[in-house]
Amino acid sequence: MNHLHDLPRHCPDCGAVIDNESGIATEYWQADRRIYHVWCGSCGWAGDIVRVRRMIGPDSPDD
Ligand SMILES: [Zn+2]
Repeated sequence: MNHLHDLPRHCPDCGAVIDNESGIATEYWQADRRIYHVWCGSCGWAGDIVRVRRMIGPDSPDD
C-alpha cells in the first residue's frame, strides 16, 4: 500500500499545492484513524486532517 498517495496535496484553506518545498504533510495513525498533519507555507494554515477508515462491508450505516 502506498500511503503517500493519500497525503493531502492542497491546502484546505487557500488551495495552494503542498509539497516538501511549500509546506508539510505528514501522516500518523491514532487507533483506526489516519491523521494528516498539514502545514501550508503559503497562508500559514496548520492543522490535522482526519480520515476515518471503516472496515465495514456493503451494509454500512448511513453517513
Ligand atoms: Zn494555505
